[in-house]
Amino acid sequence: MQPPTSLQTALLEWFAKSQRPLPWRQHYTPYEIWISEIMLQQTQIDRASIFFTRWMKVFPDLQTLASSSETKVLKCWEGLGYYSRARNILKTAKLLVKEHQSSVPDSRKSLLTLPGIGPYTAGAIASIGFNRTVPVVDANIARLFARLFNIDLVQGSPEAGKINWAKAEELLPQGDARNFNQALMELGALICRSRNPLCSTCPIASHCLALEYGIIPERPIPKKSKKIIPIEMATGIVVYNNLLFIQQRLADDVWGSLWEFPGGRVQSGEDAKQAVVREFLEETEFKVTVQSKITTTIHHYTRYKVTLHCFLLSLDDAISDPILHAAQDFHWVSFNELQRYAFPAGHRKLIDFLTATAHELTCDSV
Ligand code: SF4
Repeated sequence: MQPPTSLQTALLEWFAKSQRPLPWRQHYTPYEIWISEIMLQQTQIDRASIFFTRWMKVFPDLQTLASSSETKVLKCWEGLGYYSRARNILKTAKLLVKEHQSSVPDSRKSLLTLPGIGPYTAGAIASIGFNRTVPVVDANIARLFARLFNIDLVQGSPEAGKINWAKAEELLPQGDARNFNQALMELGALICRSRNPLCSTCPIASHCLALEYGIIPERPIPKKSKKIIPIEMATGIVVYNNLLFIQQRLADDVWGSLWEFPGGRVQSGEDAKQAVVREFLEETEFKVTVQSKITTTIHHYTRYKVTLHCFLLSLDDAISDPILHAAQDFHWVSFNELQRYAFPAGHRKLIDFLTATAHELTCDSV
């Protein structure tokens, strides 16, 4: 085995002193590392920590998770977004119980065959969960390497990716991948930050080419930012005998199997009120009338800024079952029962608004 280099030693010593006490760093079980890594895709660490702790209370092990319903898994994931991650977790859990003796595999190759697991996540589970000598590159490491090694390629380009993975492999000490990979990520998150890196406290500053050349603001080279696309949507709540109408989205749709108040995009030439009436008719064959505006919520999904106009509606005709055209199921529920269902973020914001303002839903239809 090669003796550690000064960079490896400095980084590992810094990590031993400075690492954050994250909940998945208590036991280092492969199951916990897998769940934490999937949660951390697209989610800030503080938020992921809260969801992780809650998740482990509900699904403490692989077997419990594998035998749970999709509804329960989606409800526990509600608020984290990107629900395909939750569905893939459940699919993977069932597969692991059936085909892998109820355990998470330790090789990168096997991990890569599982739903929702790509090169980064496979490397993270193998190295952090099992301490296998497998490299990882995440956004923090890519930024750190761009500065440390003065990589003058556009961030996120395939060429930069190739160099980053080769560097990550080259730097990795035998037998200490768990700590070393986390040390790189932690240094990127806490010290070599995107804005205002803390170079004066950086344990590997003496190795950093961008610092030596005085070009830190130019590394990494940013990629062109994508334009934000605004979308106008409308939704509505029909109340009947103090019960609210909700429907469950189709399984293979965006936000598949989540619950919602019917609605959809405002089309050109119509306003939000007209849109909600049309959408109700198209999706449920309910004829409705707008009684009042409740609120407008705004939510950002990757490149989209969604403005959701929310209305209180009444049914024009006598109550009957809907004919569903964009959903797999429907329920009439009390306001308190809404907490049992998983909703997309915009609809959850609407429910939170109603709760916070004690908004009266007194619009019983005929
Ligand atoms: S010296 Fe500064 S730019 Fe270089 S790796 Fe450390 S924090 Fe990042």
